[in-house]
Amino acid sequence: MSMNLILMGLPGAGKGTQAESIIKNYGIPHISTGDIFRAAIKNQTEMGLKAKQYIDKGNLVPDDVTCGIVKDRLSKDDTKEGYMLDGFPRTIDQANALQEICKELGRPLDAVINIDVDPKVLVDRLSGRFICKDCGATYHKLYKMPKVENTCDICGGHEFYQRSDDKPETVKNRLDVNIKMNTPLVDFYKERNLLFTVDGSQDIDDVTKDIDKILKDFK
Ligand code: ADP
Ligand code: AMP
Repeated sequence: MSMNLILMGLPGAGKGTQAESIIKNYGIPHISTGDIFRAAIKNQTEMGLKAKQYIDKGNLVPDDVTCGIVKDRLSKDDTKEGYMLDGFPRTIDQANALQEICKELGRPLDAVINIDVDPKVLVDRLSGRFICKDCGATYHKLYKMPKVENTCDICGGHEFYQRSDDKPETVKNRLDVNIKMNTPLVDFYKERNLLFTVDGSQDIDDVTKDIDKILKDFK
């Protein structure tokens, strides 16, 4: 059985957090367009410099750039046994482009996991988020502190940072932009019988359990 997935949800819903567990349990590659953009910005590539202009304002990077990146990434051999997209698609045009890419590559989607959270809690989730500089593991100052103070649970690193787009000035626009697109995307996948919704307002471990119940059928 294949496991070609999308992890969907508003910024702060818990996609990256749940992706860490899915990688551990199922070993499929995690493809986060946000992570790809942040790496490109860090490396100061041409694409990174272009994307930065949008990301810094909390806007979406244009579809042509984003779809090209996903097509290249899904063409790689490590996605043959499955893949997990996170943060893509975010527009209906991207969703249509993905249908085409999947068809061309012969890697059709199996399920879209929608992590559903009331937008009211997201400002709190995003403003408390901090990330390990070495491995990218995600923490929260109230809901998910490292087990040992100032030490990453995953890699033992001691340096953490806050994403520049998690600052209050950017968060509001990011949420507005994404909330607008969310309902049409949910409907797109509902119509195609691919949508599975989990309650993302539960504790992290309970969300993981609910996702597991869905994924065990695709293993
Ligand atoms: P996304 O990838 O969807 O933007 P993250 O996984 O980075 O979201 O989660 C955003 C923040 O909320 C992080 O600081 C994370 O530790 C925290 N978080 C994730 N899931 C939950 C949850 N179920 N309850 C409370 N906090 C959570
Ligand atoms: P994320 O890490 O998913 O929160 O994404 C961070 C930022 O990267 C977003 O606010 C967008 O500016 C950009 N981005 C990530 N994925 C996409 C996408 N699918 N389409 C457009 N922009 C994206």
